[in-house]
Amino acid sequence: MTHTEYLTRPQSSAHWTVSTNYRFRVASFVNMFVSVLLHGWDKGYSPLLWGLIAMQLLIYPHLAFLFARRSVNAQQAEVNNLTLDCLMFGALAAALQFPLWIAFTVYIASTLNITMSRGLAGLIRSQLAFFSGVLVVGLLVGWHLSPSTELPVTIICLIGNTVYIVSIGLTAFGRNRQLRQTREALRMGENTLKQQLTEIQNLQEKLQEQAVRDPLTGLYNRRFLDTIMARELARCEREGLHLTVMMIDVDHFKKVNDSYGHPGGDEVLKKLATLLQEKVRVIDVACRFGGEEFLLMLPSMSPEFAIVRAEQCREAFAQAKVEFDGQTIQATMSVGIAVYPQHGNTLAELTRCADVALYQAKEAGRNRVVLYIAGN
Ligand code: GH3
Ligand code: MG
Ligand code: MG
Repeated sequence: MTHTEYLTRPQSSAHWTVSTNYRFRVASFVNMFVSVLLHGWDKGYSPLLWGLIAMQLLIYPHLAFLFARRSVNAQQAEVNNLTLDCLMFGALAAALQFPLWIAFTVYIASTLNITMSRGLAGLIRSQLAFFSGVLVVGLLVGWHLSPSTELPVTIICLIGNTVYIVSIGLTAFGRNRQLRQTREALRMGENTLKQQLTEIQNLQEKLQEQAVRDPLTGLYNRRFLDTIMARELARCEREGLHLTVMMIDVDHFKKVNDSYGHPGGDEVLKKLATLLQEKVRVIDVACRFGGEEFLLMLPSMSPEFAIVRAEQCREAFAQAKVEFDGQTIQATMSVGIAVYPQHGNTLAELTRCADVALYQAKEAGRNRVVLYIAGN
């Protein structure tokens, strides 16, 4: 009579459910057969009735098992079996003339079994099936009521009911524990996911930052300059501001490399980058334009002030001493300046003009600052 395990297993383990229900059905039906035998041995039941009782309580459970095991949808087959149980228990109760404890036992088991797995719909289904069984037998052989049951039968039924109720309790407990564990596992999984998401976001930000940075100096690269320049120019145009571009090139850098090696040259580049970073404002952008060329983008800076600022940078770099491999390296730089809107409206135009000015600074002897003058 106990099919409660059926409730706790997912669809995938339906075969396991079927075999568990089989064991429970066989055990509880045998128990019911013993009760009926004790109750009916002196009641003069016909051989046909005994045959039907034996068929229902001793043979049917095996057929039900075979049917459910072969079925494509084992769970649905089990619900059908439970419904058939109800129908036949209703018939049994009526055929035995409703002996109180037997009738109560088969009724309560029938009702609970489907209700537990199907809720209210199961309750209705069980009542319909059980009372259909009662009705069929009543119509066939008439209605008789002999509710009294002897003590041994009562005791067996009480034991059967107790075992049944306890097994429901244990199953409910197991199911609750399983639910709690699943919920806990889900919560832990959710936390892990959140952590991983944060890590991914951090990594993404780092990657985005790396994509716009020069690995040697840590300054912005040309890609970043390309993306920001149009926006800055548009802003300066809207607000009627200047925007200065300074093209910076280390003087005789080849010689630095020749004298101190490539790593020595790298140290000089890093020093210049640090220096430029220190000299620029928050709104400025210092970037490595390529090789030993750097570019400063200085929004809202007039040509006059740009020259002063460039001179400060040039002076600072000329004074700077780079310690490398026990030696001191010193270098100078030249600066070409172009200013929006006087010299151009785009990054390309401004860098071209700044390049021209830079070339003039080199021509004039290096270590100097030249402002582009149109027509030169
Ligand atoms: P000028 O005063 O005319 O600018 O002379 P220069 O020697 O600096 O001339 P040029 O621009 O031709 O030389 C630049 C050198 O910079 C050539 C190249 O090997 C070197 N260089 C480019 N990138 C790097 C780098 O990342 N590290 C080092 N150490 N050297 C680099
Ligand atoms: Mg160069
Ligand atoms: Mg150079």
